[in-house]
Amino acid sequence: MRKKIVAGNWKMNNDLAQTETLITELKAQNGAADVEVMIAPSFTNLWQAFNALKGSSIEVIAQNMHFAESGAYTGEVSAAMLKSVGIKTVILGHSERRAYFNESDAILAKKVDAALANELQIIFCFGEELADRKSGNQEAIVANQIRNALFHLNAAAFKNIVLAYEPVWAIGTGETATAEQAQDMHAFIRKTIANTYGAEVADSISILYGGSCKPSNAKEIFAKPDVDGGLIGGAALNASDFFAIVNAF
Ligand code: PEP
Repeated sequence: MRKKIVAGNWKMNNDLAQTETLITELKAQNGAADVEVMIAPSFTNLWQAFNALKGSSIEVIAQNMHFAESGAYTGEVSAAMLKSVGIKTVILGHSERRAYFNESDAILAKKVDAALANELQIIFCFGEELADRKSGNQEAIVANQIRNALFHLNAAAFKNIVLAYEPVWAIGTGETATAEQAQDMHAFIRKTIANTYGAEVADSISILYGGSCKPSNAKEIFAKPDVDGGLIGGAALNASDFFAIVNAF
């Protein structure tokens, strides 16, 4: 059975006090037992969030990490540092990292290796831009992003990988992919994995949808057979909206 996951990416939002307030509100919500719920606060608030959620079923995850173990990388955070504050999962390849911080497929492949070497689970993000979708190139773009960053791995590594399809044109824009567009792409992604790693790996990997997912559209998207949950940006900053999405399965 594939894991159902709803993960909230807080991006560069919420200082320490706001993090504490939102976590208190999240703890007051009830989610279905079969859905794994995750939140990704800023680096500065991970330790506080981890402690505040001890004993809760909500997992605290990181938004990013560097590929090096340690050293002269001013401003960066390593996998070992994340682990030392209790983090077990990291988001890699978010489109904002790719666009604003020049994270190429080659850099992401190194980050993937570093995360796995440190036994971190990865939520690996990818997705096409609007121009790619308009020209009908979305599948080729997505297949390349996955291949270039992940297909050097062996099949066993995929146990620690969750995929997140996030069409760039739908992130933070209010524009959502239709449930059919999400399903078509998720089925294509699963087929791409199956072609290289076989049906067992493909059938057991969770593929999340991300891009303006909200309480009003989550139900229809999550009902699709190849959609195993969501990576949520804006709507994750409000506890009741976030849990309405968690409970949309
Ligand atoms: C995201 O940043 O991963 C995301 C999906 O954002 P939003 O839900 O705000 O579109």
